[in-house]
Amino acid sequence: MSKTPTRTCLVCREQKDKSELFRIAEVDGENVFDPTQTVQARGTYVCKTHECIKRLAKNKKVKLSNEDLYKMAITVKKAQRDYLSLLKTMKRSEFLSFGINMVNDDVKKIHFLIIAEDISEKNDKRIMRLAREHDIKYIHYGSKVQLGGIFDKPEVNLIGIKSKKVARGMTE
Ligand SMILES: [Zn+2]
Repeated sequence: MSKTPTRTCLVCREQKDKSELFRIAEVDGENVFDPTQTVQARGTYVCKTHECIKRLAKNKKVKLSNEDLYKMAITVKKAQRDYLSLLKTMKRSEFLSFGINMVNDDVKKIHFLIIAEDISEKNDKRIMRLAREHDIKYIHYGSKVQLGGIFDKPEVNLIGIKSKKVARGMTE
């Protein structure tokens, strides 16, 4: 059933969908958190669970900075919220824009962005710039296929929330 490829968690050795795992890239001999899973370097994976991140912090072979471990832990907290089913119930509402072009057009009305975790680096940078310029909060959440599923599209790389109230509910 799964449409995205699976990888093995380096901590618990369980095989999971890539969207359920964090990617760690080895760049110049150093291990760094790769939140968009797009860094062109050898990668290892770890479950998006507090348990596996805690055990990763003690791993002697794959060492991450405390900052990266903290970023992962925060993302786990967010991932535990069921954004996908929340968005599915809203999919026909006038509160959502999806895709870069629509979000660009609606940018003045947008209060929160959900960026697919497997978005290309180029588009990710473009969206970060847009978010900074307009002071819009964002998270990386779900895969393009998962976000696309909300709108009955094969892939969606970005969703914009136009309701202030809904945006607040998502970030609290
Ligand atoms: Zn694991």
